[in-house]
Amino acid sequence: AEEVGGGDKEVVREYFNSTGFERWRKIYGDTDEVNRVQKDIRLGHAKTVENTMLMLTEDRSLAGVTVCDAGCGTGLLSIPLAKEGAIVSASDISAAMVAEAEMKAKSQLPVGNIPRFEVNDLESLSGKYDTVVCLDVLIHYPQNKADGMIAHLASLAEKRVILSFAPKTFYYDILKRIGELFPGPSKATRAYLHSEADVERALRKVGWKISKRGLTTTQFYFSRLIEAVPM
Ligand code: SAM
Repeated sequence: AEEVGGGDKEVVREYFNSTGFERWRKIYGDTDEVNRVQKDIRLGHAKTVENTMLMLTEDRSLAGVTVCDAGCGTGLLSIPLAKEGAIVSASDISAAMVAEAEMKAKSQLPVGNIPRFEVNDLESLSGKYDTVVCLDVLIHYPQNKADGMIAHLASLAEKRVILSFAPKTFYYDILKRIGELFPGPSKATRAYLHSEADVERALRKVGWKISKRGLTTTQFYFSRLIEAVPM
């Protein structure tokens, strides 16, 4: 992938409203119009969602629990959260993603428990939630930006924060494969990996500690999942 000029956030917003939206809508969908790599990423991501749901439900029920799904994409986490009875606030920097997520939620959920959807970048979110979840978003930002994002997400959470990110441990593997994830300069956004120690340090700085860890790897998808709680 190539470095693109301008602010990371503007580049990311533009990407996820155009070519990125089309690509990820397919990957996160269920049709056959995906290649082998995309199918593998779909599978890996589905495991991350499954592991997140396990972390969130293994020690308590989600009924009535407020959850902020920051960077909700097409709603693949928001919908199962709502099915478990959580009161979900879902947002994404991309209006196209939010529209897709809302459409899917309305077709899959009873009228009474549709998440509240909003087009917003996660740094601008406000309010307080029992739980804040942010899956596979940090990959679009370098660690110096991720620190602020993590601090802000933690400030919105009362009881726990769940984050997933592509771990630096797999740096060389990812480098080899990144070309296939983001082929061609016109479609490129940079992919940034984060070391677990850096994420842990960013959380610790604002008074949070890691309480659970998970890892999903398939051939082309690597994602470290962490749950953090106040220290
Ligand atoms: N979290 C979703 C999931 O796991 O199904 C979507 C993951 S997708 C790889 C990354 C998403 O993050 C995209 O929908 C993108 O628009 C969104 N995103 C990127 N930067 C963001 C930001 N600063 N604030 C909110 N959303 C952002």
